[in-house]
Amino acid sequence: MESLWKDLSCNLKQASKAVLVQTENAGRGLVATENIQRDDVILTETPVISGPPQSIGPYFCANCSQPLSDGVLEDCLNSCGLKMCSKKCQTTHQRHDEEECALVKKVKDKSFDQWLTVLRVLRLRKSKSELWKRFNILEDHLEDRKECPIMKRNKSAVWNVLHHYLPELVEGLSCEDVMKICGILDANSFRIDKYGTRGIFLATSMVNHDCLSNARCIFDDMGHVTIKAKKSIAEGDQITINYCAVLTNTETRLDKLKKSKYFICNCSLCLDPTEKGTFMSAVICPKCKGNLLPESFSDPSVPDWQCDKCQFFTTHEKVTKLVDAVKNSYNKIISNPRTFVLEKVAELESLLKKRCGSVLPPTHQVILDLKLDLVNIYDADQKLDSVNKRLEIIVERIKVLQILEGDDTDSRLKGFLLFRKHNLLVAKIAGLQRKNSLNEKDTKELGGQLGISLTESARLLLHDQGCPPHLIEVMSMCMSNNLRSNT
Ligand SMILES: [Zn+2]
Ligand SMILES: [Zn+2]
Ligand SMILES: [Zn+2]
Ligand SMILES: [Zn+2]
Repeated sequence: MESLWKDLSCNLKQASKAVLVQTENAGRGLVATENIQRDDVILTETPVISGPPQSIGPYFCANCSQPLSDGVLEDCLNSCGLKMCSKKCQTTHQRHDEEECALVKKVKDKSFDQWLTVLRVLRLRKSKSELWKRFNILEDHLEDRKECPIMKRNKSAVWNVLHHYLPELVEGLSCEDVMKICGILDANSFRIDKYGTRGIFLATSMVNHDCLSNARCIFDDMGHVTIKAKKSIAEGDQITINYCAVLTNTETRLDKLKKSKYFICNCSLCLDPTEKGTFMSAVICPKCKGNLLPESFSDPSVPDWQCDKCQFFTTHEKVTKLVDAVKNSYNKIISNPRTFVLEKVAELESLLKKRCGSVLPPTHQVILDLKLDLVNIYDADQKLDSVNKRLEIIVERIKVLQILEGDDTDSRLKGFLLFRKHNLLVAKIAGLQRKNSLNEKDTKELGGQLGISLTESARLLLHDQGCPPHLIEVMSMCMSNNLRSNT
C-alpha cells in the first residue's frame, strides 16, 4: 500500500495530511495522518489529464470546454478543425497544444464526442509513461458497465475513430484497452469547472464517498484540486468527500450512486429514515399529521412506510404515487412556456399552500425544490416586492443544511447560500432606507447578519473557480475601503 501511495501521490503539490490504507469496509481509502482542523488543507493536486465532458454539443472550445454557439467561435490557430472561444484562450491555456493539433488534423470524422479526452490520455503513453502507468491503476468498472449503452457508443465514437484515423496512437492496444480508458475517465473524473471539464486526479480518486462527508473539493482556475476539511477530523479517521449534491433526499442519492458509481451507500444518513431529522423524503400521515417514514431506503424487502406517531402504515408504492402527483403538478407549472411570470408565481404559491404541511412536510425534497424555483423567479423579476419571502426561503435552506451536516460544518453550497443571503439583506436594508423606516435596532441586527454572511461566504468561495464575480467585487471593495480607512 505504501508504494502504491507513493505512485498515486506523485502529482501532489505538497505533502498531504492523509495516506492510503486498506479500510475495513470501503476498500482502499485515505485516512488522516494527524488531527485536522476545519478549513485545513488536506491535499492539493494537479490533474493528470483534463478535457471536455462526455456529452457536449457540436461546438465547444477545445481549451476550456466552453459550449459555443454559431456566432461566437474561432478556428484553432493551427487550423486543426477544432474550435476555440477566443485566440486568447488558446494562447493562455495549455490543454490544446500544437502536438495535439497535429494529431487532430488527421481525424477526418469530427463528430466531437468523447475521443478528444481519450486522445489526451493516450498521448501520456509516449510522453509521460510513468503517469500513464499510474492512470491505469485507477478503477474502471468495466464489469459493471458491460450492458451499459455508453459502452456501445464509446466503441463507435472513440475506438472506431481513433483506430481508423490514428492507428499509431493506439498501436499495440486493443479495443478493450481503450474501453478501459473510457471506464477510468467515467468512474474517476471530477467536474472541475462550470463548463463540465473533466479532470482526472490520482490521489483524490482514492478518497471515498460519504453523503455527510468530512472534506470537500475546491477546484481553482488552473484546474487544480484542493481537499479541505469541512469539520475537524481526528488522526486515523477516514477522509471522505460527497459525490452527490447535499440537499437531495436519500432515494435520489442512492439511485445516483448505484447507477453512476456502482455501489450502495451505507453511510449514517442513508441508514436514517428521518434523514437526520430533515424529513426530506417523509410524507405526512393522513391520520395524525405525524411523518410516514420508510423502514429502509435501500432494502426493497421492507416496502412499508410507517407513521412515527401512530400505528398507521402504507406501501412504498402509495407514497411514490402521492409524491409523484405533487411533482407532476409542479413540473407542469414550471415547464409551461406560455405562463406569464406573475401567473407562474401565483400558481406555484398556490400549490405550495395546498400541499406543503398537509401532504408533504415543509422540508420535503420536492417542496424545497419548488421554493428554490420561486426564489429564482422572484430574483429575476425585481418588480416583485419579495425580499422577505426570498430571505425566508434561503435562510430555511441554510437551516436544513445545518441540520444535515452540523452547525460548524463548511460546504460549497453553504457559501453560495450565505452570499445570496447577504445580497438579500443588502436589498432589505435599501428598501427600509427608501421607506425611511430603518431604525437603530434593525441597523444593528441586519448589519451584523450582513457582515457574517459576507465573510463566511468569502471564506468558503473565494478560491473556488465558481466563485460569483459579484462576491469578488464586493470583497475587493471592502479591502480598498479598509485600506483607505487605515491610512
Ligand atoms: Zn476557451
Ligand atoms: Zn488545434
Ligand atoms: Zn450515504
Ligand atoms: Zn400517524
